[in-house]
Amino acid sequence: MRLFFSCIIKLMIAVIFISTGFSVVTADTKIDLFEKLLAYHQYKRPPSSDDWLSHHPEPGQTFADYIKENPTVPDEIRQIIYIALLGSFDKTREKIIKQTVKYMEAYFGKEIRFIDPIPLSVIPESAKRNHPFWHDPQILTTYVIEDVLKPKLPDDAFCLIAFTASDLWPGEGWNFVFGQASIENRLGVWSIYRNGIPSKSEEDYKLCLLRTIKTGTHEVGHMFGLQHCIFFECNMNGSNHLGESDQRPVWLCPVCLKKLQWAGHFDVMDRYKRLEKLSGKLGFNKEAAFFRQIIRDDITQ
Ligand SMILES: [Zn+2]
Ligand SMILES: [Zn+2]
Repeated sequence: MRLFFSCIIKLMIAVIFISTGFSVVTADTKIDLFEKLLAYHQYKRPPSSDDWLSHHPEPGQTFADYIKENPTVPDEIRQIIYIALLGSFDKTREKIIKQTVKYMEAYFGKEIRFIDPIPLSVIPESAKRNHPFWHDPQILTTYVIEDVLKPKLPDDAFCLIAFTASDLWPGEGWNFVFGQASIENRLGVWSIYRNGIPSKSEEDYKLCLLRTIKTGTHEVGHMFGLQHCIFFECNMNGSNHLGESDQRPVWLCPVCLKKLQWAGHFDVMDRYKRLEKLSGKLGFNKEAAFFRQIIRDDITQ
C-alpha cells in the first residue's frame, strides 16, 4: 500500500515536470510535444507481488532528476553504439541480431557497429555456474562487464554492450537477469537465452525478436543515464520475470523519451516514423499501430 501511494506521488511529479520543464530545456522546439504525448500512454499499474517494484522499490527519476545527475551523453567523439557478440549463435538467432541492430539504430538515432566477436572461452570457471535448482549454465554479468568489455571499449564508443545466447546471472542472491548495464562505465550485456525458441514458428520468432529488442534498448537506455521508470507503462520499467517483460511496451513514455531526446538530439517525429516503418516490416502490429496513431494525429500541429 505504501508503495502504491509512493507511485501516485511520483506520477504527479512526472506530470508537473512534463508540463513545465520542456520549453526550458529544448528551447529550439516551440511545440510542447511531450505534453501532447501524455494522451497516448498508460500510467504505471500497481505492481503485483512478484513484479519488479514489489521486490526493488525504486524512487523513479524525473526529467529534472536526470538533468541534475549530469548523465553521460554522446558527444563529438563518442557517438557509436558498439555491440560485442559473446559466444556463438545459430542461423535463426543471427537473423534476430541483424534485425535487432536495425531497430536499435532507429530507436536511438545512432550508428551501431560490432567489435570483434568474443569467444565464451574467455569466461573463466570462477565466473560460470549451473543454476542451483534449474541447472541452466550461466555466466556472471559483472565479469563480462568489468573484465571482458572494459578493456575493449573503443575510443569513439558512446557505449559497448555484449550480446550472448548464454544465460546471465549478476551474483549472489539472483536467479538470472535478462540483461544488465553499468551506467558509469557505459558498458552492458544482454541475453537471448530466455526469449523463447525462434525456430519453432513464425509467432515464436516474432516474440523472440521483440523480447530481444526490448531488453537491448532497455539496457542501452540505461547507458544514456535513464533509470527505471515508475511513472508509465514504458520500456524503461524494471522487470522481474518474463510475464512482466512481455507486458512492458517497446516504446518509451514521455518522461523517458524526453530524457533520450535531450541526450541524443533527434527529431521525435522522425524517430516515430522510423519505428513505425520497421515495426510494420517486422510484423509488430500493435507497436506499428501505436506509432502510426501518433504520426497520423500529427501532434506537431
Ligand atoms: Zn533495467
Ligand atoms: Zn518511462
